[in-house]
Amino acid sequence: MNGREHGREPPPVQSGGQVWAHVGQPFTPAHYDLLIVGAGRMGAALARFLRELAPQLSLLLAEEGGLPNEEGATLLAAGVWHAHVPGGQQQRAEDTRTLLGDLLNVCGLLEFSAEAGAGFSPIAECWTPELLGMVDPEVLPFVRRDGRAGTYSAGTLALNCANAAIQAGADLMLNVRAELCGTTSEGRARVRLHRLSVTNMHEVVIDHSVNVTAGRVIVAAGAAGPHLAEVGLGVVTPHRRAYRQTPRLEVPSTPASRVLQLNIGSGELLLRPRDGGYTVIAPVPHPDPWGYVPTGGRLVGVPVGLRRETLNAVLEVMDGLPALATEALVPGRSIADIPGAWVALPEGGWPLWERLDEAHWLLLGGERADLTGLSVARELAEALAKAETPGA
Ligand code: ADP
Repeated sequence: MNGREHGREPPPVQSGGQVWAHVGQPFTPAHYDLLIVGAGRMGAALARFLRELAPQLSLLLAEEGGLPNEEGATLLAAGVWHAHVPGGQQQRAEDTRTLLGDLLNVCGLLEFSAEAGAGFSPIAECWTPELLGMVDPEVLPFVRRDGRAGTYSAGTLALNCANAAIQAGADLMLNVRAELCGTTSEGRARVRLHRLSVTNMHEVVIDHSVNVTAGRVIVAAGAAGPHLAEVGLGVVTPHRRAYRQTPRLEVPSTPASRVLQLNIGSGELLLRPRDGGYTVIAPVPHPDPWGYVPTGGRLVGVPVGLRRETLNAVLEVMDGLPALATEALVPGRSIADIPGAWVALPEGGWPLWERLDEAHWLLLGGERADLTGLSVARELAEALAKAETPGA
């Protein structure tokens, strides 16, 4: 079913969509061809690609926050693209790099190792004064360069994609919590949109709710997605939640500083240059540490307000990166500080999409969305556009 409402002409292609930002704006549409739940980086990117590939389909992007990706896990993503990805994901990573375009600030990446390996050379070959005091060349004498790697803001990416989608005719509804309510007898997805407002007591409340149906609903609600699907549709997914804490290293950096990477037993530890210092991105630990409360204090200069798993990751590489053992390391933000912004971990940690039933799809970014998220969102847009094309 095409068109904004049953029986009506579809909207003119490429005319800007409507935006509902607050409850005072009446919302009248009752039907869409496509409804995307969540305007994080994955949902916003999907909306953008769908407007390119299937502009004849009416589309609503529904976001619980006040701006695309205001609250999502994307906000705290590492925002680092690099080429060292396993086989099977390389093409997606390359496609994502192309799709990132100007947003990628190419600054290169140095990967350190205690042992020589494929592509590694002696550290002297790329030694810069900046590394002095950060890396101990005696402990980490080998380095592999990735000159095409770079950093970007995942939040900016989400915002850009959402803007592009709206300009190309997608509708956007903010401050709305979507609830999945199964399917109609004609196989259309039923969604209840709870419009949120804030009371004088700073309490978020449901002001009123509206019902819409959609030919297809794509759940791109980040870590909340699997739960939404489970509650609303009764389908069980294997995806889990995890936690990330990103301490900050107060060692001077410039936008041209390189990303530093160390492969440790539990994954990769990245030092991303950011805002004049470095963000320390330790691997995402398992499982959900619900109830964990970090406490203050210092241990050989290192803040023990770090979660134990984060601290373990730091300890693993402290010999090689002595700066981590100083007071330059501060706890920094943790995703647990932002309700709902937990990192969804699909199996293997890679972004994915999957069909939940005839009218619902799940799109998940997670921690590796930096590397392949855009290409996965594009794949789903292609699949949905194809499914909607008569005779395809
Ligand atoms: P991803 O990286 O997979 O895009 P994010 O966590 O960055 O994941 O984005 C998910 C977005 O979905 C967030 O902006 C969040 O506010 C939004 N969201 C979560 N649950 C709902 C819901 N029930 N209705 C609308 N939006 C939701």
